[in-house]
Amino acid sequence: MPGQQEADREKSEEETPSVASEHIIDPLRLQTSILDQVSDAIIITDLDGTIVFWNKQTEKLTQVSGEHALGKSIFDVVVPRVEVEQGLEIIDTMNTTGHWRGEVPFVRKDGSTFIASISSSMLKDETGTPVGIIGLGRDITEMKCAETALKDYSERLKQSNVELEQFAYIASHDLREPLRMITNFLDLLEKKYKGRLLDEKAEEYIHFAVDGASRMRQLIDDLLEFSRIERRGRPAEHVAMETVLDKVTRDLKMSIKESGAVITHDPLPSLQADRVQMTQLLQNLVDNAIKYCREEAPRVHISAVRDRGEWVFSVQDNGIGIPEDQQERIFLMFQRQHTREDHPGTGMGLAIAKKIVERHRGRIWVRSTVDKGSTFFFSLPIGMDKCGAGA
Ligand code: ADP
Repeated sequence: MPGQQEADREKSEEETPSVASEHIIDPLRLQTSILDQVSDAIIITDLDGTIVFWNKQTEKLTQVSGEHALGKSIFDVVVPRVEVEQGLEIIDTMNTTGHWRGEVPFVRKDGSTFIASISSSMLKDETGTPVGIIGLGRDITEMKCAETALKDYSERLKQSNVELEQFAYIASHDLREPLRMITNFLDLLEKKYKGRLLDEKAEEYIHFAVDGASRMRQLIDDLLEFSRIERRGRPAEHVAMETVLDKVTRDLKMSIKESGAVITHDPLPSLQADRVQMTQLLQNLVDNAIKYCREEAPRVHISAVRDRGEWVFSVQDNGIGIPEDQQERIFLMFQRQHTREDHPGTGMGLAIAKKIVERHRGRIWVRSTVDKGSTFFFSLPIGMDKCGAGA
């Protein structure tokens, strides 16, 4: 008797309630509780701006309790600090698209402020008629402050770099002329009066003065070159690094011949870069690799490997090496490890190399062992046309 069976089943279900029904959850309370637990502030208003929902995060953010806020106009509780135009734009976007997303600073009742990232949408009933607005907000005050501080810092840094470069340029440019005069007149003095009016001591003094002036000229020239890396940098172009290396070895022909240096290289890539600066960069590194040699003839090897988004070049030598505690310092301006008598130089070569690499958004570093040799590495991102040298 199917009828009887059905009646029995219904009866037994009534007597033994299911496990789920013991934990019956009020869907409305559950939803409210979920909305209270999410990390965003959630506010719902009707179309006039009267608050109908205000979750726990909103209480925290605004420091206004739900009890106090419900039923009030949103504008009486927290005041958005938006310009009239932005206010109109928000209303317009909401009306046309039904959504608006943006950042708005607010003033609390106690006068304190916060910045919220807001995402709001029009709420509609089953027939599609707008009935209210739901807004999700997140406090981004700290993030914004950090962003502003970073922007300020970077602006100031940029400004101070520009000033420094201008200073270096003007100083070096304007110092050249009086220096040329000193050198010329000292030369004249030496030529005209040597062996006649001047005794040996005077000649020695003149010699020191000429030497000092010529060193000063070298320093000024290097400083000028350094200051021109940004100011006179050229846009990135297609550069074959093997051609660049050919030019460098031709330019260093004399010192290669004198030292008996052997320069070898692996296949080198072509890339987008400032050609003149690439030549200068390789020249400074190869020149050093020859200059800072030991007794034996310098052996210099240049290679490049592709590592993810960049080319990593290396210039390896078998020279005197660099003590570990000096390996960072040598990239600073005018930092040298040797006396002029040991090895002539101004201490600007690596500073210039570093500046060139950084203009190309790359890095430069060294690995070295004293009395064994050094390898200088520099990386250049692939796709330089979007970077500094192309800007
Ligand atoms: P300079 O050669 O005029 O002194 P650099 O800036 O080119 O200036 O180099 C700074 C210092 O780094 C040098 O004085 C030298 O002590 C050290 N250095 C650079 N390249 C090498 C190298 N390949 N091997 C050993 N030491 C080096």
